[in-house]
Amino acid sequence: MIAEVIVDIATGETDRIFDYICADDTKIGSRVRAPFGGRTLCGFVIGVKETSSFPAERLKKITPCEDGLPALTEECLSLAKKIARRYRVPLAASLRLFLPAEMRTGKVRELTKNYATLALPLEEIKLPKSAKNQLAVATYLAEHGETECAYLNNLYAGGVAALTKKGYVTVTQKQVLRNPYEGVDGEDFNRTLSKEQASAIARIEKDERTVQLLHGVTGSGKTEVYLRLIADSLKRGKTAIFLVPEISLTPQMLSQLRARFGKNAAILHSGLSAGERFDEWWRLRSGEAKIAIGARSAIFAPLENLGVVVMDEEHDSSYHSETTPRYSTFEIARLRAEHSGCKLVLGSATPSVETFLKAQEGAYNLLPMTTRINGKSLPEITIVDMRREVRRGNQSNFSSVLKEELSKCLESGNQAILFLNRRGYSQTVVCKECGYVAKCLSCDVSLTYHRAEDCLKCHYCGARYNALSACPECGGVKLTYTGTGTQKVAAELSKIFPQAKILRMDNDTTSGKEGHLKILKEFGEKKADILVGTQMIAKGHDFPAVTLVGILDADMSLHFADYRSGERTFQLITQVSGRSGRAEEKGKVVLQTYDPENEVLRYATAYDYEGFYRNEVSLRRGAMYPPFSKIVRVLVSSEDNEKGLETLKEIYFALEEIYRNNEGKFLFFNKMSAPIKKIQDKYRYQVLMRLCETDIIGQIYDVCAAAKRRDVSVTVEENPVNLS
Ligand code: ADP
Ligand code: ZN
Repeated sequence: MIAEVIVDIATGETDRIFDYICADDTKIGSRVRAPFGGRTLCGFVIGVKETSSFPAERLKKITPCEDGLPALTEECLSLAKKIARRYRVPLAASLRLFLPAEMRTGKVRELTKNYATLALPLEEIKLPKSAKNQLAVATYLAEHGETECAYLNNLYAGGVAALTKKGYVTVTQKQVLRNPYEGVDGEDFNRTLSKEQASAIARIEKDERTVQLLHGVTGSGKTEVYLRLIADSLKRGKTAIFLVPEISLTPQMLSQLRARFGKNAAILHSGLSAGERFDEWWRLRSGEAKIAIGARSAIFAPLENLGVVVMDEEHDSSYHSETTPRYSTFEIARLRAEHSGCKLVLGSATPSVETFLKAQEGAYNLLPMTTRINGKSLPEITIVDMRREVRRGNQSNFSSVLKEELSKCLESGNQAILFLNRRGYSQTVVCKECGYVAKCLSCDVSLTYHRAEDCLKCHYCGARYNALSACPECGGVKLTYTGTGTQKVAAELSKIFPQAKILRMDNDTTSGKEGHLKILKEFGEKKADILVGTQMIAKGHDFPAVTLVGILDADMSLHFADYRSGERTFQLITQVSGRSGRAEEKGKVVLQTYDPENEVLRYATAYDYEGFYRNEVSLRRGAMYPPFSKIVRVLVSSEDNEKGLETLKEIYFALEEIYRNNEGKFLFFNKMSAPIKKIQDKYRYQVLMRLCETDIIGQIYDVCAAAKRRDVSVTVEENPVNLS
């Protein structure tokens, strides 16, 4: 027998597929070792056949890996091929999505961890005072005994290695069984379904359509519906995939899932180490675990015999991949559901316009849930006109209404959440004399001041710059900080409410594996009174003591030049408001804006999703924006400006030909610099198109695939989430 083997998929930019001689029982999808030019490469069998067109004497033999089961199921392999074709990426790149990192490289199952112990008593260890990390490690080990190296390295970088070299510390490898959720145990509530929950489940079961849309207000109990559908699928001997935005995998959620499904659930999230991910993946592949729970990449879980696929918060932008291949999670979820003949259940309080249109047209089954489980009405939203505040001389970030509500909330011992769109201390540093704005040297964006570290940071590439004491252009010393960030708000707050304990949650405070979980836990345990945060705090958290939510800059996302800005603003306000008054006490929301007449804000404060939807859909239909058309952007970026421009031109001319032959299918066609002209030292150009008929999209991908060259990246994005 001959096997077609794809090798080197870990890094391959092009597919390397070769014929090998194999045993008769070789299974498609299995992992093998393939001799190749004196080396042995890890490969996967993607096909078997009787004969090869290569002369038999030149064919080498593969050896199977002892995995027990083929790593790739037939469904996964065929899906990988479809994705490769759809997005014009090498099969290798598409297969990578289906395999955990350790499987791709062949370095499988590293079930060991390193532990450090002191080799000598602490008194005999002689170190100079300057060796701070070494001293800290030695002291720690003297106090605590044997400790995991990873833990120490995290705290005192380099300490263990230096001590080991000097013979003061010994490191031993130990085998451990990874159980990432040890200690995560929650109580499972034996709940009686509400009428709406029961009826939604019954209607899903009866309906023939693949896609089901659960449109339920925040707090209507959508999660319980998903869990019942998943449990039901297990009862029928089938498996399930449960997708959530990464940020929703909170401790509460994890413990709820563990309590309900125990070891049947494999939870894949970014906090796991590569090894832990591999183990969870293998539990799914081997059938030990039957439910894959995770962010968008969990859609590639190696499950067979799917009984249901759930996509919570279906409108969430994290379901669009931001790396090549830029797949749509929904598209893949639907393919998988269709393949298994099961339902794809979407859920949201604010479905995307595109999804809701499909439901209205009858392509999806629409299941409304209109009441909150606790019977409480949604919190009342008060709009505050910030222009009036400014006229009254209030220059701060807090309107008088918000300040008043905050002090009432704190007095009654409740908690508040304040939401704004920007992190950092202030938005930009501007020179009052010459108008100079501090910008990143590698990116075409302005820098943000971070007070805690007293430095300027670029939010695109992470570069840090020293804070300025004078303008580098004119030498002037009148530098102002415009705008507001989470840090600044937190600082201002502690001046107004010195006795309140304030927590901040944004990309700066949540670095590290479990940063955001820690902050949420502290807030949930009422160790703080006010939580200030960005987007991150908008989603899915259930804090019973929160009775006030303040939205500081409701306009921010409205003024992006993006057809989806209205939709995003509506979603954000609804979601953030949903954090208030989830338990006994009624919640309040204060929404600050400079544009109080804005329609989107009006609909959002009335919780009128359908009103918003009707308005939005007619705007989009009139202007022919998605879902009535498709925006396609081809983005060319390169460190070499010349090469980038050359590639852009080549692509543009090829696309122009498609355009000339299909003018009726285009609403817009142009080339230009990208809105941000440079990111991480790469110059960026784009061809922007709007299509009313999408059958030519394959041709666009072809043009771009043909124009790829070294040092220039070319990506095709469909309805991109971010047009910067
Ligand atoms: P949604 O996801 O729709 O915003 P959740 O699923 O978070 O709503 O549910 C809101 C609250 O109601 C949660 O605290 C949940 O534990 C509770 N809940 C859900 N279903 C029931 C039920 N049938 N009986 C009692 N409490 C429930
Ligand atoms: Zn930068």
